[in-house]
Amino acid sequence: TEFSDLNLDPKVLQAVAEAGYTTPTPIQAGAIPEALAGRDVLGIAQTGTGKTASFTLPMIQLLSQGRARARMPRSLVLCPTRELAAQVAENFDMYAKYTKLTKALLIGGVSFKDQEAMIDRGVDVLIATPGRLLDHFERGKLLLTGVQIMVVDEADRMLDMGFIPDIERIFQLTPFTRQTLFFSATMAPEIERITNTFLSAPARIEV
Ligand code: AMP
Repeated sequence: TEFSDLNLDPKVLQAVAEAGYTTPTPIQAGAIPEALAGRDVLGIAQTGTGKTASFTLPMIQLLSQGRARARMPRSLVLCPTRELAAQVAENFDMYAKYTKLTKALLIGGVSFKDQEAMIDRGVDVLIATPGRLLDHFERGKLLLTGVQIMVVDEADRMLDMGFIPDIERIFQLTPFTRQTLFFSATMAPEIERITNTFLSAPARIEV
């Protein structure tokens, strides 16, 4: 499989080519067509397998129709740590460089003010750690009812860090009709339970 076989838009393919990638990794070849077709995806993959692009590229393409609205992000990416969220944000910027999509990074350890200003202005994508996302929600300035695509990255680490109740709460704040892309290195019983509850007939891709 080549990137050009995956039904990606020229704008996305151009950014991928500039990143220096020639061939999709197995998780990318498996997940990208399913996500572009609108299906939920359960990706079982470790770090280093290229999983970030496997959810970021289809998300960018699916969001490219439509525009950002104040306080109502259209997509949400949840990451277990600040460092991982920052990495996902960097990847997003690189892959979305030929689109007009905007993002905000919502992580702890920095002031709410700048993050709130971006949410107010309207962003397409929120990339966040669960605690900070819920802090913003509780301040009453953020609505998750516009979320069309929700990504959970490194769910096994979320479990280790005690974030599963937060993840469940966030799922419940988003529309039932959202598309969910869910990634975990392992499938512990608690992770299996979450995916059974919140994913709808997912394409299961294990690498
Ligand atoms: P990830 O598993 O998403 O953290 O990606 C691991 C590393 O692989 C990152 O440095 C990516 O930039 C790189 N990468 C992702 N996809 C590809 C690809 N198709 N070809 C070459 N490198 C890639």
